[in-house]
Amino acid sequence: MRRSLLPILCCPVCKGDLSLKVTVENDIEIVEGELSCPTCGVVYPISEGIPDLLPREKEDMVARGEKVRQ
Ligand SMILES: [Zn+2]
Repeated sequence: MRRSLLPILCCPVCKGDLSLKVTVENDIEIVEGELSCPTCGVVYPISEGIPDLLPREKEDMVARGEKVRQ
């Protein structure tokens, strides 16, 4: 994903801002990294340039010991 996309993206759960951690970046875009929501404590991976912004399953969050907001 291009870095310019970041201001457009928001957390699919709480619609809050996401923070970006870049692992691999080329001249054009961020190839590998992660987007995280500081409010929900959920991490969305960026793999092969594509951010995976699907909301995480509730079970996953419970398994991680996090509170789930209804
Ligand atoms: Zn959130």
